[in-house]
This record gives sequence, structure tokens and C-alpha cells, in this order.
Amino acid sequence: MVRLSGKHAHWAANQLLRPPDSLPPTRRAGYRVLVDPLSGSVLDQAIVICFLNPASFTGEDVAELHLHGSRAVVRAVLQSLSRLSDEYKRIRYATAGEFTRRAFENGRLDLTAVEGLADLLAADTDRQRIQALNALGGSTHRLVAEWRTTAVQCLAHAEAALDFSDDVDGSTFDAVIPKVRSLAARIARRVERDGQSGEIVRTGVRIAIAGRPNVGKSTLINALARRPVAIVADNPGTTRDVLSVSLELKGVPVTICDTAGIRDVPGDQVEAEGIRRARDAVADAHIAVVMHDATDLDNQFEMSPCDTHVIHVANKTDLLDKLDEMHVPQNMHQLSLVKDASDGWDGGLDSLIDKLSNVIEQFVGGGEGSGCGQHEMALITRMRHREHLQSAVTAMERFLKMRDTESGAYAPMDLATEELRLACREIGSVIGEVHVEEVLDVVFSEFCIGK
Ligand code: GDP
Repeated sequence: MVRLSGKHAHWAANQLLRPPDSLPPTRRAGYRVLVDPLSGSVLDQAIVICFLNPASFTGEDVAELHLHGSRAVVRAVLQSLSRLSDEYKRIRYATAGEFTRRAFENGRLDLTAVEGLADLLAADTDRQRIQALNALGGSTHRLVAEWRTTAVQCLAHAEAALDFSDDVDGSTFDAVIPKVRSLAARIARRVERDGQSGEIVRTGVRIAIAGRPNVGKSTLINALARRPVAIVADNPGTTRDVLSVSLELKGVPVTICDTAGIRDVPGDQVEAEGIRRARDAVADAHIAVVMHDATDLDNQFEMSPCDTHVIHVANKTDLLDKLDEMHVPQNMHQLSLVKDASDGWDGGLDSLIDKLSNVIEQFVGGGEGSGCGQHEMALITRMRHREHLQSAVTAMERFLKMRDTESGAYAPMDLATEELRLACREIGSVIGEVHVEEVLDVVFSEFCIGK
């Protein structure tokens, strides 16, 4: 689809129609033959739809040409359009994200909806789709806009009290204190509750498989790659490097890395480097599956302390007799990757996948399949949101400290008001109510041309 937006959009589309000036009525699809206005040669047969400002995606006049889509057709139509420019009407290619930026600037979308749209365009999994639709539908905006309204009310009261400070003591001013305290607590609670789950849904869970050489790490990653439903991509590396496979578990994108076997004394420099990378991959992962050889449990691989959630697995249990099996520690998941399930046990792979899914569920919280409703999904889904909101909370906390009636720490009212102003600005930045150029540039740079 070729989209034209701007005050000459309808005029430009009309030039290509046969008969000329035969745009269908607004918001109605019309079948039209497109021709090159100079040569008169037919370009394509298309469905044409036009929208009148402000009721369009960009808020401007828009014309959409739904073409047959081949490169030759699109190129011919774009060439014909570009030749229409004259000294009064300029037609040019949109830059990356320009249509969405215009939509934002014309008040059709707020900044969180713009981010939701970017996420929806990039969504691979169901959960990403639902989270993105939430943001695009305005859920994040509604929540943050409500906080901003309260913050602006507090600021307005504080400023009003400042204006009349000759007549009244600080008590009128300090009447906003409980409101500021409750708002700061509400925001802090929500930021904490949503944590990083929204970001994890967007960017995926990292799982590292680690352990000594030969315990079955590569065999496990191969088995996992075949079991879960959707394989998104394969990223081969060398056996001594970190090799990763992307899958989808519970609607969440997951990257599983097979790492080099970790030995205390590496054979050579290349292996030493592989081991260093393996340890980094484990520290960097959300979940580490640490594999042990069930027949050699005395020679266990020790994890360095880190925040990663660890699942210990004892592999090759098919080589154990009943007595040995009892010596496998309770906290280790028993696994056999060569099991043929003839005795009714599948080797423990499916229950390991269930275990991983449960941990992932803890990371991403509510949502489809978790038993919680969609409203439980994270609304604070980006680091950008979190940073602005945390700064707002910090500014409000400084305000509260400055006017602490109990400690008697009384900073001047105008200084304290500045903190409230800052808090309003920070909250507004989340939804784009404060037009900070760098913030906008970061958000729109994620889009491609034509969006
Ligand atoms: P890695 O070095 O940790 O990646 O180990 P590999 O996945 O390459 O496996 C090492 C050897 O152990 C291979 O010969 C595998 O076939 C074998 N192996 C892997 N899993 C099992 C298992 O559950 N039982 C048995 N008996 N052998 C296994």
C-alpha cells in the first residue's frame, strides 16, 4: 500500500486516476485504474481509499493506493508520483516513522501508543501482540495521564498558595502534602509491580545452559529446539562459542544459549575464552539451566554467585541403577535425553519445559494463559517509562522531605514547588505531554519508512 499524507495528498492521487479527479468518497474503497499522467500508460489496477483531515491516521488528508505489490508496480507508481512535484506542490518520500510522528504531533496518538504501535509491528508472539495492543489502545496512557492530572493539580494548588503567600502561612501550601505522598506511593508501587516484566515480554527471556563438558548441554538444546511449538530463528556459532536458539514458550520469546563446557583448568586459550563467555552468558541470563552428569555427581560444576534463577539438572539418569537414582539430590531435575519412553517415563524433558515455563511465568506476571486477566499485564513496559516515573517519585520524595512537618525541615515554598514542577514534567514525558526532542527522536527512530 502506498500512503500519501499532507495537504496535496488527494490532489496527487487524483492525478493518477483514470478518469482524472475520480477519487472515491471519503473512507470508501473504490476500484480504479492508475495511469501515468504524462505518458498515459497504465500503471496498475488498484483499490483507492481517501481520508479527510483530521479523521485519518496522520490527522492530515490521506490517500491510500492498494497496489498489486510487486516491485515493478510500486516503483512505477512512485516514479509517477515523484514527477508530479512542481514549485507549489512538493511530493517527497516520507522519512522513517514520519507518518506516526505526524499522527503524534497532530494529537492522534500519545507517545505510549506510538511505542505500542512499534511493538505491534515487531510482535513475534501472542503475548507481545496483546501487550502492544494494550499500549496502542491507550491503557498505559490512561494510567499515566491520571497520575499527571493529580500531579498538575498538586502543583496548581502549591503555586496558588505561593501567589498568596503574603496573606497565609504555609498551611495552605502544605495541604498538598498528603496528595503528593499518596501519588508518589501509587506510582512507586506500580513501577515495582510491573518491574521488568513488560520489557521481558518485549525483548525475551534469556536462558543459558551451563555445565561441565560432555554432560549433554548440546543434546538438551537440540531437544528443546524440536519440542516447543514455534522456532523463530537459529543462530549457529562454533562449539566453543555461545550458540543460541530462539523459541517461544508461553507466548514469550525465549533465547536459549548453549555455552562452552566449563572446566576448572582449560585446555588452551580458545577454550579459556569460551569458558569466560559461558560464565558471562550465565550471569547475563534470566534463567540458567545448570547440567550435571548423574553418573559423576561428585564432580559438580559450581556456579559463581549471581542474580540468575538457577535450575539444576542431573542428566544421563538412564545410566543409573535404582540405588544410584536415590542419591540424586532432591533439588536436581532428573533427566535422560536418550530415553525411549518404553517404560512409561519420557526422560523428564516435558516436565523440564514445564518448569522453565513456570519460571518464565513468574518473570512476566499476568496475561493470557496465566489465569490472570489481560488487565494484569504490565503497563509500564519500557525502561524509558520506568526512568521518568522513578525520577518523578524521587522529585516528590524531595518535596516531601523539604516540607516535613515532623522534622521541621522547612525549605522555602518556591524551592519545594520546583520539585513538583519537575515531577509533573517527568510524568508528562512518559506520554509525550512534554515535548522533549531527544525523547521523540529515540521513540520515532524505531520505525521504518512508510509507518
Ligand atoms: P555437551 O558437551 O555438554 O554439550 O554434551 P553433548 O550434548 O555433546 O553430549 C555428550 C555425550 O553425552 C554425547 O555422546 C551424547 O549423546 C551423550 N548424552 C547426552 N545426553 C545423554 C543422556 O541423557 N544419556 C546418555 N546415556 N548419554 C547422553
